[in-house]
Amino acid sequence: MKLSLVVPCYNEQDNIPLFYEAVKKDFANASFDYELVFVNDGSKDGTLANLKALLAGEIPVKVVSFSRNFGKEAAMYAGLENASGDYVTIIDADLQQQPAIALEMVNILKSEPEFDCVAAYQETRKEKGPMVFLKNSFYKTVNRFTDVEFMPGASDFRTFRRPMVDAVLGMKEYFRFSKGLFSWVGFNTKFLPYVVQERASGETKWSLRKLFAYALDGIISFTTAPLRIPAYAGAVSMLVSLVYLIVSAVLRLGFHHPFTAANWIIFLLMFIGGMILMSAGIIGEYLAKVYIQTKERPIYIAKEILSNREEAE
Ligand code: UDP
Ligand code: MG
Repeated sequence: MKLSLVVPCYNEQDNIPLFYEAVKKDFANASFDYELVFVNDGSKDGTLANLKALLAGEIPVKVVSFSRNFGKEAAMYAGLENASGDYVTIIDADLQQQPAIALEMVNILKSEPEFDCVAAYQETRKEKGPMVFLKNSFYKTVNRFTDVEFMPGASDFRTFRRPMVDAVLGMKEYFRFSKGLFSWVGFNTKFLPYVVQERASGETKWSLRKLFAYALDGIISFTTAPLRIPAYAGAVSMLVSLVYLIVSAVLRLGFHHPFTAANWIIFLLMFIGGMILMSAGIIGEYLAKVYIQTKERPIYIAKEILSNREEAE
């Protein structure tokens, strides 16, 4: 049995040797083989040089070095693609996620065959109030409006069995939001509470702007519901215009209230506006289908196929 540790690295020069030593120490007594798959995500510091230095060490190391910074999502994908283990762990290079926990994850998978994945999550977030509020609202929105379920506080720090890795790799979409993909592919995930450590060195690569864009990507990747908004708004506008027309007519006929050009204009504005909005909504329905189709996600993912006969060749 072999474990692959996939490590995305962006400007982590000082953390690389620390991470390597930590793994070596924590995995010294491991009863299985393991390899390290580092992905250098276009670092501008000495990360690549430090990774190359590890190739001389005794642990099997693979380094995938990007031509520029493609982002952590791309780095994770490249890492999974290059991992050859029966089990694969995604772990950050900054030691905020302790390698010892990866060992614990593997042991859980070994002793609990019903699970295909162990994901670390933070029971209590260490961040400040507004950030916790923003992140929690994001999880609520996603869980309410999309086809996927996110565990609040869950991280990308996970260990998968091979079939789940292959399923995730089968999702070839360009705009990747891994936490959603991990949920979308199904399988059984066990959530393991963990405590995030301080960064060993350097600082976080996530600005508020980047996080916000990422959150939006997450929602847009898993729901096309916003494309329906114009259809609903258009229908409401048309309905209101018709009510307005009826009320105006009743006032004219029953109460001799004048029906002026202004009444016509208000009615027509709302009616035609509504019609245009609804047309946009109809286009949206088709666009949603095209959008989903272009992702070319698998139509189904079978976890196992059982038969009591040998398959005929
Ligand atoms: N990372 C990456 N590409 C990026 C940004 C980050 O590969 O464009 C890596 C980074 O080196 C680290 C992990 O992703 O190993 C998590 O990043 P970071 O620690 O900045 O995020 P945080 O822990 O603050 O959420
Ligand atoms: Mg970090």
